[in-house]
Amino acid sequence: MIGSRSEQLKLASSLPPVRSGDQFDIIVAGGGASGLMAAVSAARRTARVLVIEASGCFGGAGTTAMVAQWLGFYNGETCAVGGLPIEFAERVIARRGAHGIENYVLAEATAQPLRLKRLPFNPEVAKLVADELVLESGASALLHAYITGATSTGGRISAVQIQTSGGRIEVRASCFIDASGDAVVARKAGAPIKGRESVQNRMGMSLVFRLSHVNLERFRALSRQEKRAIALEGVARGELFWDVLSVSPVGVSDAICLMSHLDGLDSLDGSDLTRAELIGRYQVGRIMEFLKRRMPGFESSELAAIASHIGVRESVRLDGDYLLTEDDVVNSSSFEDSIALGCGPLDVHEQGGKLRLFMPAQPFEIPVRTMTSAFVHNLVVTGRAISASREANGAIRHQATAMALGQAAGHLAAHAVALQGDVRAVPAKLLQEGLAAAGGFPTRRHLRALSAPG
Ligand SMILES: Cc1cc2nc3c(=O)[nH]c(=O)nc-3n(C[C@H](O)[C@H](O)[C@H](O)COP(=O)(O)OP(=O)(O)OC[C@H]3O[C@@H](n4cnc5c(N)ncnc54)[C@H](O)[C@@H]3O)c2cc1C
Repeated sequence: MIGSRSEQLKLASSLPPVRSGDQFDIIVAGGGASGLMAAVSAARRTARVLVIEASGCFGGAGTTAMVAQWLGFYNGETCAVGGLPIEFAERVIARRGAHGIENYVLAEATAQPLRLKRLPFNPEVAKLVADELVLESGASALLHAYITGATSTGGRISAVQIQTSGGRIEVRASCFIDASGDAVVARKAGAPIKGRESVQNRMGMSLVFRLSHVNLERFRALSRQEKRAIALEGVARGELFWDVLSVSPVGVSDAICLMSHLDGLDSLDGSDLTRAELIGRYQVGRIMEFLKRRMPGFESSELAAIASHIGVRESVRLDGDYLLTEDDVVNSSSFEDSIALGCGPLDVHEQGGKLRLFMPAQPFEIPVRTMTSAFVHNLVVTGRAISASREANGAIRHQATAMALGQAAGHLAAHAVALQGDVRAVPAKLLQEGLAAAGGFPTRRHLRALSAPG
């Protein structure tokens, strides 16, 4: 762990430059929830790693879209995600960027609320901790760098092309981890993809914003019925855009509000994404005024920030060696090659923001085959773009699950480097042992072993 601030400054200042033609063991596309974990865990296993991120910080939707509550650590009373994701959360807590796990009613103001556990955090502190993790790991990094293409022949990727403000460069690796959330590398390399056709059915986007000077106690003290009545009034007046009044607290008087919602736009289309940001900001303006006028606790609130990127819940996914299904989630199917546990909830947004929420009875196993493809041998896809049906995607997209998948992807790629990058040749058992040794729970068996009497 970085011992002092000056050590961090030294590491940041001496981060090696990345030049066109540079060769790495592993390139990680995207430094979000999943990519951050993948890059750090692979670098800790001594691989030469480069993580390439389009925005100016690590953390993905949790930081740039201000999705400031971790879901997916707990299924009921069981914590089913350990290892590096828990280390990340604990370090954010140690920096006073979060208080810890709390009981919470998800979608409280809607017709179908769900009790679960969440971990609200300050996204700005998460950025600081993410930087430390990357710097300590020894990984190379490029921020403000956008992957635009991949060179692939005979089922192997050799290089990716990146646009930076200084121009276009190309970097090479033995193995690639696609943690872009949008399966960018998989698409560019010609792997089969799911979800291209159904833009209208995709889950809506939300632009998150932060208000200061909120009396959080007053808001919390409202009954569910009072919140629901105000939410429905706002929707009827066209000042709220769905009936979800999601608030993540930061400190004692800031509220991160996840209340905007827009359907039917394609985040992979530049013009649609532009419309989404503009409509999102229009919604933020309306919501903010409504809250100030109508919501107890928000009377003196001031707009402190709007997320720098609209939150994209769903785009396209890998069509990989195994397609995780709703049945697998609901019935908690077992897989010999499980490498991470999902906790749920299954959280699918239909048109108009109508929610389908369901908590599986126990953590569900996610097989490594959801991350690999027979068409591209040296590629691991992780995070929300793994191979899953639309419904199963609604259950694996939470950040703690994305992080657990990311840690598994990092281990998988690190093993594959010795096998010419062939990720499908890595035995699942080897992967499970390594993940368990790093504090993870790759299968339900590992959870049971933990809870078995000594
Ligand atoms: C509105 C909203 C609300 C949500 N609510 C919750 C919640 O309450 N709790 C919870 O746990 N989860 C929630 N989620 C889900 C969760 O935030 C995401 O599913 C999760 O962050 C996915 O992780 P990821 O690593 O796959 O993708 P991301 O975290 O999105 O990371 C992908 C990264 O890749 C980068 N990238 C993309 N394309 C390129 C490129 N071409 N070149 C370089 N970099 C690229 C992006 O900039 C980004 O940093 C929500 C999501 C949204 C959008």
